Amino acid sequence: MTNRSVFHVVCRDCRTESVVNGRADAERLVADHAATVGHRVEFVRVA
Ligand SMILES: [Zn+2]
Repeated sequence: MTNRSVFHVVCRDCRTESVVNGRADAERLVADHAATVGHRVEFVRVA
C-alpha cells in the first residue's frame, strides 16, 4: 500500500504549503484550500 507516502502540498497562488502523510490527506488539503480561497494547489510525492 502507499498510505505511508509523504506529499508536499504547495499553492501556486499564495505561500501556503505543507507536508502530509498519505495521498488522501494531500487531496483533502488541495480541495479545502481551493474551496476556501479558490487557489490552484498542487502536490508532489516526496517519499
Ligand atoms: Zn493559496
